[in-house]
Amino acid sequence: MESSYNPYVAAQTQFDKVAEILNLDEATRALLRQPMREFHFTIPVKMDDGSVKVFNGYRMQHNDARGPAKGGIRFAPEETADTVRALSMWMTWKCACVDIPLGGGKGGIVCDPSKMSLGEQERMCRGYIRQLAKVVGHVVDVPAPDMMSNGQHMLWMLDEYETITGGRYPGMITGKPVGMGGSLGRTEATGYGVIYTLRNYLQKANIDITKTTASVQGFGNVAEYAARLYTKLGGKVVALACLDQTDKKTYTYYNANGMDIDAMVGIKDKFGTIDKAKAQALGCTLLPGDDWLAQDVDILIPAALENQITAENFNKISKQVKVICEGANGPTTPDCDKLIEKRGIFMLPDFLCNAGGVTCSYFEQVQCNMNYFWDLDEVLTKLDHKMTVAFEAVYKTAMDMNLYMRDAAYVIAINRVAQAVKLRGWI
Ligand code: NAD
Repeated sequence: MESSYNPYVAAQTQFDKVAEILNLDEATRALLRQPMREFHFTIPVKMDDGSVKVFNGYRMQHNDARGPAKGGIRFAPEETADTVRALSMWMTWKCACVDIPLGGGKGGIVCDPSKMSLGEQERMCRGYIRQLAKVVGHVVDVPAPDMMSNGQHMLWMLDEYETITGGRYPGMITGKPVGMGGSLGRTEATGYGVIYTLRNYLQKANIDITKTTASVQGFGNVAEYAARLYTKLGGKVVALACLDQTDKKTYTYYNANGMDIDAMVGIKDKFGTIDKAKAQALGCTLLPGDDWLAQDVDILIPAALENQITAENFNKISKQVKVICEGANGPTTPDCDKLIEKRGIFMLPDFLCNAGGVTCSYFEQVQCNMNYFWDLDEVLTKLDHKMTVAFEAVYKTAMDMNLYMRDAAYVIAINRVAQAVKLRGWI
């Protein structure tokens, strides 16, 4: 289906707005509103039937003034250069917002791995790295898994890189399995980071977390660990929404007494689909998919996908809702931000709230570079500290400059990158 939405145009529009607030000079604007380096290339792959298929690959390094570029490699049939450009730019802001010494990058291969054998996938991964070996690495640009790519793909890429360069550089790529250079805590990191941020805000607002209720959209990796930590801290999840893979419909599961998250995890599959009959046996009522928005709760946690809280459905949100914390990337549309701000709902924006994942990837890289690995407690303590310091900085900027939290997060991030560019003498 044709779509007029271009994420690169959206990323540049957001940047231009904040460049105005910060009164950035023309040269800094010109440098930061596009990637510094772009690699577009072909990857010929011998297929199992003897034919050769040529895949198109990208790697974009938006900015590395604060440290090596960092960002995932997406395997997507619909991948475009502009999507990769936009995502590389958002990675720069996310790393700067949580103040990790990394820049922003993103990669992609136009492909559908679900239609390829493991051998074909391996040859494609190795071909991708053969094209990039000179321009990635632990001190240059550090890739990671993203949409449809996984730890096995990262290990093939690392092996190809090490074969070409003749050394062992596990910090060249992150998202590797634990025991093969991966970090403990990566599975929990994004969801826990969402709740560390929420906890920090509730403390500022003098709201007792044990007296709050939440409604969560999604029950995949991010939502599961967010729900687990939130209930551990005493909150009550009364609604969970997810997509049912069998009938391709979305449902909201509601339980006024609060969900037993362990039990709900026990009845979901690997796609984050909850078993309807078993959920009803556990005391859940089945409601339409978008009813997660309409529940009388204090907190909404969109943790499924983008474009979910919009100007069209905004009026469904209960008047009781005080906070939205964005676990997903881009769940709220820009026109809806204005309505949320006007109603006085507090926004914990995505690239602050869900930055726990990239922060833990940074920890993985640090541990690999040292060749010394931390235990789970140490990883989570460091993660909590990083997320808390980041929240404090964004909150203070929002209060001092009277800004919406999303704008405050952008102001902090873009300012940090602009400073780094100036200090290096590039501008
Ligand atoms: P996932 O694939 O593990 O889970 C996705 C969940 O969303 C599933 O429960 C699915 O049923 C549900 N879902 C899908 N479409 C839906 C719909 N239309 N309505 C309701 N529910 C729907 O994904 P994840 O890794 O948990 O990621 C979720 C979001 O968080 C994405 O936006 C992702 O980009 C973002 N994110 C993830 C990480 C990470 O570390 N996993 C880090 C940062 C941001």
